[in-house]
Amino acid sequence: GSTGSTGNEERILVSVRVRPLNDKELAKNDLSEWECINDTTIMYRSNLSSSERSLYPTTYTFDRVFRTDCPTRQVYEEASKEVALSVLNGINSSIFAYGQTSSGKTYTMSGITQYAITDIFNHIEKHKEREFVLKFSAMEIYNESVRDLLSTDTTPLRLLDDPEKGTVVEKLTEATLRDWNYFTELISFCETQRQIGETSLNEVSSRSHQILRLTIDSSASEFVANDKLSSLSASVNFVDLAGSERASQTNSAGTRLKEGCHINRSLLTLGTVIRKLSKGRNGHIPFRDSKLTRILQSSIGGNARTAIICTMSPARSYVEQTRNTLLFACCAK
Ligand code: ADP
Ligand code: MG
Repeated sequence: GSTGSTGNEERILVSVRVRPLNDKELAKNDLSEWECINDTTIMYRSNLSSSERSLYPTTYTFDRVFRTDCPTRQVYEEASKEVALSVLNGINSSIFAYGQTSSGKTYTMSGITQYAITDIFNHIEKHKEREFVLKFSAMEIYNESVRDLLSTDTTPLRLLDDPEKGTVVEKLTEATLRDWNYFTELISFCETQRQIGETSLNEVSSRSHQILRLTIDSSASEFVANDKLSSLSASVNFVDLAGSERASQTNSAGTRLKEGCHINRSLLTLGTVIRKLSKGRNGHIPFRDSKLTRILQSSIGGNARTAIICTMSPARSYVEQTRNTLLFACCAK
């Protein structure tokens, strides 16, 4: 890792966080088959049949593996802080929570977002020699339709190609973020916007992607105004992805029908983009194939920094989905 904008390819930072078993799982004796054997490796404990053994590894290694008792603060510090704060150096970044529904994506990403915003406010407080302008926007992608979560208007937003800025979300609200209280107000407004017109928030959140974007413009005070760092502009994106079961191709058709679960184009394309980026940036990367990857193109390709936190339940009944998540995480490394 580095903080310099050398233009070098940066690896994607990939971590796994295991949530605790919940009361329901404990009551059903739906116990863990996974063991975190150290800070970077997780192991599948049960015996694999010989056919399974040829398909799945038993140990998986990442940049970091967080056990069930790890607080979100630690996940933030070790799996995302550096990537998030690179925005202060003018480097775009994205932090993703990836995992099946109920694995802890929202729990993890909302904590990470709050810690990052706090650190950013503290940094600004300490650096009076620069002037900062913070702009906050929030959007949801649901069925390849983009919606502004800071507006009561539910009309889908269009994506435009700007010759300088790349893909721009037309008419997206940008709120100027002055302080922490205003941030928490905006976050709760987003929550109410997500629920409007939908029967179940769970259903929406399992199918939709939420992007919270903070754009920071900063400029040096006058006496160093000729410095080439005198003005910087970059965005950090906190992305709470749709449930990864939406990207799964291993689900039986029956399950898919029952859950009304269909392949999610944005999630599938993100997977392809991440896999290609992790193999080096040669060749065609299909950013334009989905809304999510178009919106995030300047924050995951090129000089941008990326962190992915894969969340998982340790329960036995989720083992198939959990394996899919870990295999995705392996591809992203
Ligand atoms: P997802 O967004 O992936 O569907 P959630 O973040 O909503 O999942 O988590 C599902 C439930 O598990 C929530 O009640 C949440 O509070 C709880 N949970 C998730 N991760 C943790 C954790 N690391 N520690 C404690 N509780 C957690
Ligand atoms: Mg969620």
